[in-house]
Amino acid sequence: MLTWLSKYVFSPLWEFKDGAHRRQYLRELSSSQWLDTDTLCQQQWRRARDAVEYAFRHCPYYQERFAGAGFDGTLRDRRDFRRLPLLTKRDIRANGDGLLSREFRREDLLETRTGGSTGVALNLYFDERCQELRNAASMRSDRWAGRDIGMKVAALWGNPPVADTLKKKLRNLLLDRIIYLDTINIDEGSVRRFVHEWRRENPDIMFGHSHSIYILAMYLRRMGLADIRPRGIISTSMMLFEPERRLIKEVFDCQITNRYGCEEVGLIACECERHEGFHLNIDHLVIEFLREDGTEAAPGEEASIVVTDLINRGMPLIRYRVEDLGVPSDRTCPCGRGLPLMERVTGRQADFLKRPDGSLVAGVSLVERTLTAIPGIEQMQLVQDELHQLCVKVVKDSSFNEVSEHKLHNEFREVFGAGITVEIQYVPALEQTRSGKYRFAICNV
Ligand SMILES: [Zn+2]
Repeated sequence: MLTWLSKYVFSPLWEFKDGAHRRQYLRELSSSQWLDTDTLCQQQWRRARDAVEYAFRHCPYYQERFAGAGFDGTLRDRRDFRRLPLLTKRDIRANGDGLLSREFRREDLLETRTGGSTGVALNLYFDERCQELRNAASMRSDRWAGRDIGMKVAALWGNPPVADTLKKKLRNLLLDRIIYLDTINIDEGSVRRFVHEWRRENPDIMFGHSHSIYILAMYLRRMGLADIRPRGIISTSMMLFEPERRLIKEVFDCQITNRYGCEEVGLIACECERHEGFHLNIDHLVIEFLREDGTEAAPGEEASIVVTDLINRGMPLIRYRVEDLGVPSDRTCPCGRGLPLMERVTGRQADFLKRPDGSLVAGVSLVERTLTAIPGIEQMQLVQDELHQLCVKVVKDSSFNEVSEHKLHNEFREVFGAGITVEIQYVPALEQTRSGKYRFAICNV
């Protein structure tokens, strides 16, 4: 009953009060996902042209940078687009204000700051329409996971927000309807309290970082608690390891839907109910997969992800290097949506480890492969502080034995060669970032 009320009464009322258009945007996005790919690409191209020309006219940074690259203010074709210079995190740091549109006052824009777990924290600004559109795009893809407006959500979050004012409490009671598990301190006591609240509130959807959901699943299994049954699980992490996905499905008896995005541009891609790749959010973004030399990668080839925001006029990001790697796809999804697919995200550029000869190893892929190949490992993290040294932090389970340790040494010797010392450290848990996220490979060299 409260779900119905929240969806059809409180949510529209709240929106009316805020003057928001999210529901209208959601209706539009819900129908555009079924357009054919060509139509969507044409629409995307028109929006890209508008966004680039807008940035050139209204943002001092782009005016100077694009003019320097020979751009005259009109995009004639995609080749013109691909000639535009790339934008890096460093560029945003150095030119923050220059990226803001002169049409907005800074105080009218919404501000956020990225966590900076890759070493560079950024101040970002959005206009309100952009914010509403991003929320709508998230809700569209959340629906693929079985969520709908007004449903109760259990969020697994590091340092969750506290509803301290009456307005926030009301909003949470009637509208957001979220219960939290603080993932910074998961232990049997906090899991028991969470399960108790779950049984009382009975949420529909579980939401959080995939690795935190995995840890919760392990606790529930160990503690013999088998009645946590959401309709769907949404994981916000870029990496969802296959062994983790399997356990999560088993314990909660439902699908887990992985999605990929970032603070800078919102939702980039999400799995649909078929789980055969990630649908790219090309309504709101141009997503390019580029090789090191700047040329376009072929389907199936791992490459650097570069995004252009088509909806944020407050602080446009044009050809922004997210510093993540992904694999484009030319498959079509059997679900029939026209939004093109990406195969997967393979990690962050910052997660690459180094061999003594200077070549790179995709740290997160290595973690996934090892978890799959060697039984007895619950969690693993690779930390490289020196070129000739690698620390492998392992959380064991009861089936871990000498053979597993031997296999672990062999695996890393094979990948890194003999010139590197591998130290295996057994730890009770992996460290998290302040926001409760996990990094599985950290290279400090
Ligand atoms: Zn699909």
